[in-house]
Amino acid sequence: MKKTGLKIPKIIPLAASILTFMLLASSCERDHSGTVESYTYHTLDEVNNFIEAAHTANPLITKIEQVGTSVDGRAINALVISDNPSYPEMEPRVRISAGIHGNEKVTTEVLIRYVDYLLAEFNNGNTEIINLINSRYIVIIPVINPDGYVSSRRYNANGVDLNRNFSREWSGDYSIYGTAPFSEPESYAVSLYSDSKRFTTGITLHSGAVIVNMPFDYGKESQEIFPAENSLVEYMGLIYAEAGTPPFYTNPDILISSYVYNGTINGGDWYVITGSMQDWSYLDAGCLDYTVEIANSKYPVLPEDIEETYSYNRDSLTAFIKESGYGVYGRVTDSSSHPIAGVKITIPDGDLVIYTDINGYYHRLLLPETYDLTFQLSVYSTQTKTVIVPDTESGIHLDVQLN
Ligand SMILES: [Zn+2]
Repeated sequence: MKKTGLKIPKIIPLAASILTFMLLASSCERDHSGTVESYTYHTLDEVNNFIEAAHTANPLITKIEQVGTSVDGRAINALVISDNPSYPEMEPRVRISAGIHGNEKVTTEVLIRYVDYLLAEFNNGNTEIINLINSRYIVIIPVINPDGYVSSRRYNANGVDLNRNFSREWSGDYSIYGTAPFSEPESYAVSLYSDSKRFTTGITLHSGAVIVNMPFDYGKESQEIFPAENSLVEYMGLIYAEAGTPPFYTNPDILISSYVYNGTINGGDWYVITGSMQDWSYLDAGCLDYTVEIANSKYPVLPEDIEETYSYNRDSLTAFIKESGYGVYGRVTDSSSHPIAGVKITIPDGDLVIYTDINGYYHRLLLPETYDLTFQLSVYSTQTKTVIVPDTESGIHLDVQLN
């Protein structure tokens, strides 16, 4: 959209954008001079209506799930996008979320555009997007903090910063961190939902800066606190930052710091925080998760600013979801071919620890190399398998039987 205003297309394509109609209906206004057009953000109801409309138009490849309920009783909704959305298959599972800080509304705007794009391109026969949806289990959570979103506040209705309320390195120093790890229904719901899905990777969109913020947040890489699998962490961070036309890292608003490399930074080297979703995801949920800051302004006021922000992130999201397929995946069963849940899967010197889900499925993100993967669960004899991970985003299939 340009300042000159929207043009209504004369011919509506078959796989029309759901969002276009909603934007036409609700999101652009002119002042009385007719020269300035400001952007009106989607309300929470409109975001939820968009998800409903997306599902109604694409019932075979989408599913709406409720992650949880906010302090004030509002639903935290997720839209699952996959070829079999009702049943997580042996596919990499990717969680993309926004609105954990309620005043960072541009993040939700970018995410609903991305959903609209994925579904429209799927229906338009875009082979890349069709393959992506058929081979990935994508979960979109457009607003983690609905009470904050409605009141345009960073915090939830208890005045807590949800991105300080996760359990890893949680600190009780300030009331805005909550009264205990996961004291808040929103962060607790995200943790339970994530544990049930066993996500491979994640992105949480924020605004207030432009940077791909990588684990860990709780300490500084420059002071030797960083993930044991930092090469994987940095690789996937750069996948996001370097993808697209224009690439994310070429955004002129990118953070200026001596620690920045091509649009990525170690979280702690930017500034240390405790109890972040990203650190909990990595260290406690086996999910390689990133805090991606997408715009300097939390409230860009012009439609073209929203669209520009989206343009710097759309192809990064696609590249990241695609690359989440690297590594090893399969099913762990017992001697009677029954799936085993909760099998711990590790590599030597690794710190991204994953577990099989209720169907015995796992997906271990790994860069191309040879690894010894160890599968263990108390009552079974531990097994170690040597695997050569190929240089492909479809990974390698390895089923394991534990006796
Ligand atoms: Zn934020």
